[in-house]
Order: sequence, then structure tokens, then C-alpha cells
Amino acid sequence: MLCPKCNGKMPTIMYGSIYVERCVECRGLWFDLLELEHMAAIEGSEAIDIGSEELGKRFRDVDDIDCPHCSSPMLKMVDSRQPHIWYEGCPSCFGVFFDAGEFRDYKEKTVLDFFRDLFAKERM
Ligand SMILES: [Zn+2]
Ligand SMILES: [Zn+2]
Repeated sequence: MLCPKCNGKMPTIMYGSIYVERCVECRGLWFDLLELEHMAAIEGSEAIDIGSEELGKRFRDVDDIDCPHCSSPMLKMVDSRQPHIWYEGCPSCFGVFFDAGEFRDYKEKTVLDFFRDLFAKERM
């Protein structure tokens, strides 16, 4: 698979029992349907996101891309809980592309939200 942002190679990497593709150039990450949620649930999985935030920012504006799996034009998405995270999602096969640093960010805030929800419940 070739990276939809920079045409770099995207070899498959494995963490836990989940396979994702990671670009050797821009360090972007590709998740197939539900892989994002599964990967985010694994402790320590932020280690797969090895690119710097600076690198991610450079490719963040490259957002008119086609899905590397099925060639559909991808949609520009935002995470409703974390509107600063912009990513691209495929409307046909539901894969998603995260720039370098975004998965770490996504995961960190998701865990924080989890604890905040927990405390919110306890105080009620
Ligand atoms: Zn790339
Ligand atoms: Zn697709």
C-alpha cells in the first residue's frame, strides 16, 4: 500500500493483535474499519505513532486524498470529542488516516475523557 498523502511505502506493523499500516516517510497511520478503536484500547499502543508532531503538521493540510484501499475520495473528519484532531475517513471502506502525532493525541485525550466521565459519575 502507498501513502495517500506522500506516496511513501506503508508497511504493515503489528501491535497487540492489531495490524495497521504506517508510512515510512510522513509516519502517517492507516487504520481499517474498527482498528482505530481496537488499537486505542490497547495499553501502550501510542508507541506505534513514532512521527513528531512537526512532521504531522506538515502533512495535515494535505487533505484532498483518495483512499489507498478502494480509491474513493476521502472525507475530512473531526473527532467530535476532540475537534482539534482532523483526520481523513473513507466513506466506502471506513478506513481512517491519522497524521503523525494524532494517534498519540487521540489516545491521550480519550483516556482523560474516560477518567473525567468516571469522576463525573461519582460526584452525582
Ligand atoms: Zn506518507
Ligand atoms: Zn476506502
